[in-house]
Amino acid sequence: MSNNTDFALAVEDLSVSFDGFKAIDALTLYIDKNELRVIIGPNGAGKTTLLDLICGKTKASSGSIKFKNEELTRLPEYTRVRRGIGRKFQTPSIYENLSVFQNLEVSFPKGRSVLGALFFECSDEVRARVQAVAGEIGLADRLDGEAGLLSHGQKQWLEIGMLLMQEPELLMLDEPIAGMSARERELTAELLQRICRNRSVIVIEHDMDFVKQIAHKVTVMHQGRILAEGSMEKVQNDPKVIDVYLGH
Ligand code: ADP
Ligand code: MG
Repeated sequence: MSNNTDFALAVEDLSVSFDGFKAIDALTLYIDKNELRVIIGPNGAGKTTLLDLICGKTKASSGSIKFKNEELTRLPEYTRVRRGIGRKFQTPSIYENLSVFQNLEVSFPKGRSVLGALFFECSDEVRARVQAVAGEIGLADRLDGEAGLLSHGQKQWLEIGMLLMQEPELLMLDEPIAGMSARERELTAELLQRICRNRSVIVIEHDMDFVKQIAHKVTVMHQGRILAEGSMEKVQNDPKVIDVYLGH
């Protein structure tokens, strides 16, 4: 088709209303392959709702969401996961009673049920993937330990690892460093920089020092729309952004 693009994600004229209230209002946004985009903006701006629309948790009222040139808006959430879209929610959803290894193992796409992971040996292919991902998220030496015993930050990394087991081409993270220590934040910045070498990443975040460290580009949302977009330096010095967000 002639209107194919090189963007990983093309969101065009997207809107969603909740009881007449436009949470997302004719929003257009393009994300490149291997781009790490950070979305900032005041509470209620529609940041989480935008991710809900992209992953299929919420249905759009109108507009288009194309992932690698394929229209997603009518596809159910699980099909979007299979197409390569991974989403991390604010609260981690790991299996506290399983080991770190088993948490990663059950997240392998052709993987098995929780019971299967408990009672049967996994294949070499899965074992190799679990070990590679554990290395990437810094939990290689915790594989046999119970996930429930990890620190808050480590649990967040494990959940990122569970998403990485599916090799997503677009990974979306909603406030991933909330509640983390300074050291954990540093390690998370490094982790996200590694992760985006092979995929696009969208991060919603409030911590401006962290945003500065990781963002290729920043999108500022306000009232369901894009207020500003560009380099960190550009949006930081934008009077509109200072007025509605950074000035507070
Ligand atoms: P942000 O993540 O930027 O803080 P949200 O996307 O969570 O903002 O919310 C944007 C607006 O949409 C808020 O006013 C919120 O109350 C509203 N909203 C979000 N989801 C729903 C929903 N499922 N039903 C009704 N209103 C919602
Ligand atoms: Mg939110």
